[in-house]
Amino acid sequence: MAQGQKIGIVGAGLSGAVIARELAEAGFEVEVFDTRPHIGGNCHTERDADTGVMVHIYGPHIFHTDDAEVWDYVNGYQTFLPYKNRVKTTSQGQVYSLPVNLHTINQFFGKTFRPEEARAFIEEQADKTITDPQTFEEQALRFVGRDLYEAFFKGYTEKQWGCSPTDLPASILKRLPVRFNYDDNYFFHKFQGMPENGYTDMIEKIFDHPKIKVTLGRHFDPRAPHDYAHLFYSGPLDGYFGYEFGRLGYRTLDFERFSYQGDYQGCAVMNYGDASVPYTRITEHKHFSPWESHEGSVCYREFSRACGENDIPYYPIRLVEEKAQLADYVARANEEKSVTFVGRLATYRYLDMDVTIREALDTARLFLSKSKDEAAMPAFVHAPL
Ligand SMILES: Cc1cc2nc3c(=O)[nH]c(=O)nc-3n(C[C@H](O)[C@H](O)[C@H](O)COP(=O)(O)OP(=O)(O)OC[C@H]3O[C@@H](n4cnc5c(N)ncnc54)[C@H](O)[C@@H]3O)c2cc1C
Repeated sequence: MAQGQKIGIVGAGLSGAVIARELAEAGFEVEVFDTRPHIGGNCHTERDADTGVMVHIYGPHIFHTDDAEVWDYVNGYQTFLPYKNRVKTTSQGQVYSLPVNLHTINQFFGKTFRPEEARAFIEEQADKTITDPQTFEEQALRFVGRDLYEAFFKGYTEKQWGCSPTDLPASILKRLPVRFNYDDNYFFHKFQGMPENGYTDMIEKIFDHPKIKVTLGRHFDPRAPHDYAHLFYSGPLDGYFGYEFGRLGYRTLDFERFSYQGDYQGCAVMNYGDASVPYTRITEHKHFSPWESHEGSVCYREFSRACGENDIPYYPIRLVEEKAQLADYVARANEEKSVTFVGRLATYRYLDMDVTIREALDTARLFLSKSKDEAAMPAFVHAPL
């Protein structure tokens, strides 16, 4: 494949943008398509016309990474301002700090434990009769005992995944989900921040290259005849094949948007742990930009449910039963020529933004080295299975 040849990219999210830019800088003509009327995919941000608040249209996005190259990459297109994700939860009539930490434990049990005392206390709470946990519930009971499990894990998990924690695998909860200090920073990563003017502004700058053409509001049928030397597809894997083997399972989200004059909840994210509250959390978007000041406020109540045919797929479920179906799609994809499946939908995995960028950079680099050697590009650089 020679420079100057046209490359097609389906999807103007982070995957499509990063690949488009790398290829354009290497001399390829790149054409990008997105069904939506905006770039940015699910990271899309937009200022609310009434309040001026920067809204994360498809749900809250916090950038965090240990990958120094990815951190430098995003900072090349946008100033990232300091932001620490600190989440609260309302449970059983009180507000607590998450992830469950020493403050949460002391408040919940009415104690003044120091770290080692709290550790010993939680060990006493743990259900030691469970020796080989098979389910999420058994794993949580074994780690933290029934009281903490019911207050902080059970109801939220039921709402988020639409099933009982007794039907979810133990592997979801790999480590003890509790901290024995007062660290309430949600993420452990070295770099964390928020783009000063939003993710869409950053992605617009990534696309800003004379060899990149972006067409919005255009659903691209990847299997219809086209004249691209290679296609990068970041749409749904099952959709590419017309759902031939059935639909892969996803959860979708409904956002109930409301405005408020003033400060509605005093933080960006408030979870609701009780099963009796139908939503999982409320997001107050202005707190994602603490360097800005707005009188008005925009909030989202977030509801999770099974994804139907006309819904936006958000979280891949990846149930054990889906493995065979996914394997069928992967086998079909591997038979395709001159197309590479990229990003969260085409590889049917949950990917944080930093991982999405890392994978897109690696994919573009592999493509550039393969095209130099005139070698074929694989269908997957990052396999779904
Ligand atoms: C609720 C939620 C919260 C998240 N929060 C965080 C967070 O806090 N931090 C973090 O790091 N990550 C977060 N993420 C992950 C982040 O959204 C992804 O990493 C990122 O969106 C992946 O980018 P992508 O380009 O692969 O996919 P997408 O953003 O989904 O982009 C794919 C694009 O392809 C388009 N498309 C699909 N099919 C076609 C077609 N046939 N023709 C034309 N266009 C098509 C779609 O319209 C879409 O715009 C979150 C994800 C969700 C769902």
